[in-house]
Amino acid sequence: MDQSDVTRSPAEIPLPPPYHGLHLAPVMRGFEPIVWLSPTRRSDVVRVRRHTCECVPIIYELCHSGGLLFIRRTVRNAEGPSIHESERLITVRMEALWERLITGQAR
Ligand SMILES: [Zn+2]
Repeated sequence: MDQSDVTRSPAEIPLPPPYHGLHLAPVMRGFEPIVWLSPTRRSDVVRVRRHTCECVPIIYELCHSGGLLFIRRTVRNAEGPSIHESERLITVRMEALWERLITGQAR
């Protein structure tokens, strides 16, 4: 890192590819629409298992809570973040949906 990188704010420095997280594939035709619900159980203890890259305005997180998994979608708007959640499913079913989300088969 040279001096010019130190003086610039982090937001101005583009992330080199190795530092990027997971990026979603473009959504496919005939994709499965995920039903996005308003979060209700805010007091839950939620563990984030996986999440997509934070360089884009929409972030998806695969969350674990109370023995079930769900996907949390955060859309960062100028007015602030808008958060929605998928339904909660058992691990094998939600991991399959997460995979379809990543590969563009669901969104
Ligand atoms: Zn990225």
